[in-house]
Amino acid sequence: MNPITIPFNRPCLEGMEMEHVSRAIRQGHASGDGPYSKQCQALLESILGVGKALVTTSCTHALEMSALLLNLGPEDEVILPSFTFVSTANAFVLRGARPVFSDVRADTLNLDETKLAALITPRTKAIVPVHYAGVGCDMESIGALAAQRGIPVVEDNAHGLFGRYRGRFLGTFGGLSALSFHETKNFSCGEGGALLINDPQFIERAEILREKGTDRSRFFRGQVDKYSWVDLGSSYVISDLLAAFLFAQLEARASIQAKRQRVWERYAQGLSGWARRTGARLPVVPPECGQSYHMFHVLLPTPERRDALLTHLRSRGMLGVFHYLPLHLSRMGRTFGGEPGQCPVTEDVSTRLVRLPFYNDLSEQDQDRVIAAVEEVGA
Ligand SMILES: *Cc1c(COP(=O)(O)O)cnc(C)c1O
Repeated sequence: MNPITIPFNRPCLEGMEMEHVSRAIRQGHASGDGPYSKQCQALLESILGVGKALVTTSCTHALEMSALLLNLGPEDEVILPSFTFVSTANAFVLRGARPVFSDVRADTLNLDETKLAALITPRTKAIVPVHYAGVGCDMESIGALAAQRGIPVVEDNAHGLFGRYRGRFLGTFGGLSALSFHETKNFSCGEGGALLINDPQFIERAEILREKGTDRSRFFRGQVDKYSWVDLGSSYVISDLLAAFLFAQLEARASIQAKRQRVWERYAQGLSGWARRTGARLPVVPPECGQSYHMFHVLLPTPERRDALLTHLRSRGMLGVFHYLPLHLSRMGRTFGGEPGQCPVTEDVSTRLVRLPFYNDLSEQDQDRVIAAVEEVGA
């Protein structure tokens, strides 16, 4: 078997990362909430126009903070897509809440807003849309239904930073939103995340939960003369060394997004003929969505062709990867009543989907090799 020469993902530097990290070390503030964490937060707040951004150790932890902020517990239900990463569910399950799995739309693979009303019960305490591939969910319908029923919305925006829906940034619709800066995301510091707070009632308590349940943030602002244990909490602050790395990436957002847009559009153009010939489907981006160029996926006509494509890419030394296994059919998901047939679109697409190699510095030559290899497993 050929060695892998084109990985699925490769961490890419924009140039200023190491300089900022070494400055963070020289500044002598390596723990959380240092100058770089504050700069990342200020940048996110001003560009996105959110009331408060708190950088965290991960998106998973930002989601866990959301579950704490909403006081979720046993008997509570949280509606989320089955087609998502485990953390979207686990963050709420950790509090004892019950995940209620929704199917996704066949086009965008986002939470199907037409199925939502039927899943709401008096116990529904949150709706968690995931903007798959950074293409926005129908936030108009979801937001209207949630507002009408008085149910908070928590956006899992791990894929969609700087993507837009009807001109408005993803992550600014829910009362709370979570971002990921994991190595595989558009902007990365290895492991990291952020909680965006659009509903100001959550700000003060979020600061406390994130600082081990203490009012340390108030203390540093001089609002109290000593800090102490006031609430639940954990350690969700990110080291300022990582924040320094992240700041370099966020500052280079225009360059990163331009590179990713180029890769995405080259795949879309290069594979359109192949898709027409073979009945494969390329990503669908509705006109109201300004996507974040997070990934490029193709849906093969059958699971057998999907597996054949994965094997063929691997034999050519490149890595395509499948994506989410339906959460409702997982071992954990079944303990919450998940069963086959419950989310038919999710069950179908998860067997036919391949994500192609996608990273900022994917060269045109390498991308052409991927496109040629995909075309070889044609019709
Ligand atoms: C990556 C991802 C997460 C988790 O992000 P971490 O920062 O690794 O915790 C959560 N939800 C979705 C949809 C993701 O893709």
